[in-house]
Amino acid sequence: MRIVFFGAARTVTGAAFRIECEEAKILLDCGLFQGPRELEERNRRVDLYGPATTSAVVLSHAHMDHAGLLPAFVASGFGGPIYCTPATKDLCEILLLDSAHIQEMEAEWQTRKNLRKGLGPQTPLYTRGDVERTLPLLRPVPYGERRELAPGIFFRFQDAGHILGSASVELWAVENGTTTKLVFSGDLGRKHQALLNDPQIIEEGEVLLVESTYGDREHKSQEESVREFVEILEQAYREGEKVIIPAFAVGRTQEVLYTLHDLYRKGIMPPIPVYVDSPLATAATEIFKKHPECFDGQARALLKLNDQPLELPGLIFAKRVEESRAINDLKGAAVIIAASGMANAGRILHHLKHNLWRPTAHILFIGFQAQGTLGRRIIEGAKSVKLFGEEVAVRAQIHTLGGFSAHADRRELLDWISHFKSKDMKIFVVHGEEKSAQSLAASLQEAGFSHVKVPGLMEEVDLTEQVSPEAPLPQKEVEPQDLLFLLEKRLRKLRKRLNREGIPTEAFQAASGKLRSMEEMLHEVEGILESRS
Ligand SMILES: [Zn+2]
Repeated sequence: MRIVFFGAARTVTGAAFRIECEEAKILLDCGLFQGPRELEERNRRVDLYGPATTSAVVLSHAHMDHAGLLPAFVASGFGGPIYCTPATKDLCEILLLDSAHIQEMEAEWQTRKNLRKGLGPQTPLYTRGDVERTLPLLRPVPYGERRELAPGIFFRFQDAGHILGSASVELWAVENGTTTKLVFSGDLGRKHQALLNDPQIIEEGEVLLVESTYGDREHKSQEESVREFVEILEQAYREGEKVIIPAFAVGRTQEVLYTLHDLYRKGIMPPIPVYVDSPLATAATEIFKKHPECFDGQARALLKLNDQPLELPGLIFAKRVEESRAINDLKGAAVIIAASGMANAGRILHHLKHNLWRPTAHILFIGFQAQGTLGRRIIEGAKSVKLFGEEVAVRAQIHTLGGFSAHADRRELLDWISHFKSKDMKIFVVHGEEKSAQSLAASLQEAGFSHVKVPGLMEEVDLTEQVSPEAPLPQKEVEPQDLLFLLEKRLRKLRKRLNREGIPTEAFQAASGKLRSMEEMLHEVEGILESRS
């Protein structure tokens, strides 16, 4: 078995891992890269993922950094099944269409800009047509059912408790008579979070791909974050102020609604109107209501009492643009929830433009803010930011409430992994920025796991070989012939990698410098040998 890490390696977006077995090649997730431009340019290289040679895609959940490149993959020639849970399938239908719309709009905007510069038009990454060709390939498979992917290859979804329908993937492959079990954590949710179940514990596996979004941080508890949230709501109510919450349309929005519903039920919710300003979040909320099988015991109990956990007096869903604009003219206190969660696009930008410069307004970050996004710049203390070409001062009160995170923190990740029985399993730490991934890897090594690796982008790993950390070259008493053989093997691997990485980057220029000095050393060795003969 081999694994190729196309994305979400030392970064949090673009999840896509190819599992190559004798019988078939499977792609785990096919996510969009989001953030800095060098990263987003990778979205155009989905041809590298082998669309024509891939037998099936297994999708962990509907977030765009896991599913958002599927239409491009299909447009480049993939026509096989895409397995996901029933709720993921429903969410993908609305999220992929929305993503295509964004792609088309961005291409249109870029084209106008290009034409003014005398350049050619920009084609969208994919179109609604591509999404319409992708959706019929989605095959719903409920949690806990083992299915055959290809001869000798089976998989099963387990609840990952991250968003509605999110799954960890168990994959079994029989090769040369032996079975290898690979587990992909997907994105793992928090324990005891509102609405959803806790992540399912998995105990067996020889290979693990585990996320590390918060591999170096611990969240405040949910209760602490809720207390802070109530204080902010009360202050906003007293001062007649706005509370702006950038939130993913799927997941965080519903969790905030559920929390507000809970506060209302307990009688501690100040009488403030709540606006969900996102047609997508509105549609996603309807899908949540269709999938109570994904809810935890508490949310199901409310449903039994005919109490809708995602409804609230004074809750307004703004669908049309005019409704969204009208929110900006509102007087008095209000909670405004809008996408995107990392404030890099969407209606949230308008609300930030109207409120970011006002010292009495509150901006509440409740989700992960990736490098290169507007949200990250704001929480890192930018004095001003550019919005719609205009410099806007950051004077509002900025809060980050980690307790609402959809991701397990460092402690919860370590706890989830600790249930695996074998300390010899090969662990690949993915889906985390370099620092988080390395930090989690170090903790896992301390905890006694002996084969832990943080793979790089486009790295290929042959699982029949030793994986951690880098197979060292033997130090002493080695025959030059053997050493030459090992060097050749590594050189072949390096050459493959250099070929794959099209654009020369600083790192690759440095690499070619080193290779040149190696060449000189080889000449020296040749000189030694020649002088002997
Ligand atoms: Zn996710």
